[in-house]
Amino acid sequence: MTDRTENTQDYLLSIVIPMFNEEQGASECVRRVARVIEESLGCRYELIFVNDGSTDRTLEILRQEKEQNPHVKIIDLSRNFGHQTAITAGIDHANGDALIVIDGDLQDPPEVFPRLIEKWKAGADIVHARRTARHGESAFTRFRAAMFYRIMSQISSIDIPIDVGDFRLMSKRVVNQLKAMKETRRYVRGLATWVGFNQETIDYEREARFAGTPSYTLKTLMGLAMSGILGFSIIPMRLGIYLGLLVITTSFAFGAYGVVLPAMAPSWTPLMVALLFVGGLQLICTGLIGEYLYLVLDGVRQRPVYIVKQEY
Ligand code: UDP
Ligand code: MG
Repeated sequence: MTDRTENTQDYLLSIVIPMFNEEQGASECVRRVARVIEESLGCRYELIFVNDGSTDRTLEILRQEKEQNPHVKIIDLSRNFGHQTAITAGIDHANGDALIVIDGDLQDPPEVFPRLIEKWKAGADIVHARRTARHGESAFTRFRAAMFYRIMSQISSIDIPIDVGDFRLMSKRVVNQLKAMKETRRYVRGLATWVGFNQETIDYEREARFAGTPSYTLKTLMGLAMSGILGFSIIPMRLGIYLGLLVITTSFAFGAYGVVLPAMAPSWTPLMVALLFVGGLQLICTGLIGEYLYLVLDGVRQRPVYIVKQEY
């Protein structure tokens, strides 16, 4: 039984597609996404393309596509804001009962849509699409991605499934929560997972890019990792406390050594005890400031304190 109020019979499906310099693949993207929806789902739909400050002909091509296909909507951003922000803009402009985020380079195959919708109809609020294989990507890219997902899952306080990017379906109530979240540094997959509700995962094989080159470099991936860590982990802020405790313990060990075996202990033992003790205290105090800072940060972000799923 689903406790959601969204319409799963005559529903509107929103597809959010960020586009940055995708002139070569844009038309194919519109065609393939529209074909899957029309042939396999037959629902009402809107294709929300977010042009993230492309410097090529992406916008022009999308506008041509819009003439052919009235389902196409284009949100043209004033400059390049980055993938996560582009997705956010698309989500903010969506009206659907269900929403799917998909990359514009067709690496996420739209043929997976019916499986996502099936889960949604069965009551899922979020359906993560997990990559079981990645085609057309170099060994280094695959290794980089594998490390990214594993480190992030260790560090962050929420359970984002491993090997899940931004390809996912979200129900209207999840989308409404995301729209209400105004924090500026967006890590969309983190926010979507944080929201909770009924989350499911399906597997798919990631395809090679249809055309063009990936714009994710090591630098942008690091930026994404930082957004994830800053947004969903307190570990870096706690580091001071942990290190401080470690250093003070070492200072006590030296002290004990000096007391128990005064003849054996080096002459600089008292100095070392004092040095480590003061150093440890300073680290702990820094960590404590970090805790207060985190409290402030949490307040400034204005995430809801809790989200009610249903009242009975
Ligand atoms: N993208 C974007 N803004 C950017 C970089 C990328 O909207 O600043 C879009 C891009 O057009 C694509 C998606 O985000 O649709 C994923 O980008 P890319 O293929 O470069 O990343 P990867 O597949 O390597 O994760
Ligand atoms: Mg890609």
